[in-house]
Amino acid sequence: MTRALQILKDAGLRKTPCRLQMLDLLLQEGRAISHSEFELHLEAIDRVTIYRTLHTFERKGLLHKVIDGQNQSKFALCSHSCDEKEHRDEHIHFHCENCDKTRCLDELGIPEIVLPVGYSAHRANYMIEGICAECVGAGT
Ligand SMILES: [Zn+2]
Ligand SMILES: [Zn+2]
Ligand SMILES: [Zn+2]
Repeated sequence: MTRALQILKDAGLRKTPCRLQMLDLLLQEGRAISHSEFELHLEAIDRVTIYRTLHTFERKGLLHKVIDGQNQSKFALCSHSCDEKEHRDEHIHFHCENCDKTRCLDELGIPEIVLPVGYSAHRANYMIEGICAECVGAGT
């Protein structure tokens, strides 16, 4: 069984060509993918289906939305700790200004912030912009 099939099975989702292809692309790339990138790679599948599948995946705890520094929505695979009830994607995201790729830095948690009295946090987005390791390496 492929990784994509396993993910769908674990989430209790039926396999469809769209779902499988989207997961394959995410697994293969290992980074966040935007809606238009999905469209580009999945030529045979219409945009409404892609849109709906993104929502299903997000609801099921498979993907989380990442807003990169350019205000573009991208979607990245969640870790195993996310499920239908709750997302726990409390990690730093990195957007490369050179290649425009956005990645999850899963191992880096969001530093704890002490909020002013009376405020309570429900979610946090932590996005760092800069140059990724791949792009730095390419220049040498
Ligand atoms: Zn998640
Ligand atoms: Zn880069
Ligand atoms: Zn992430």
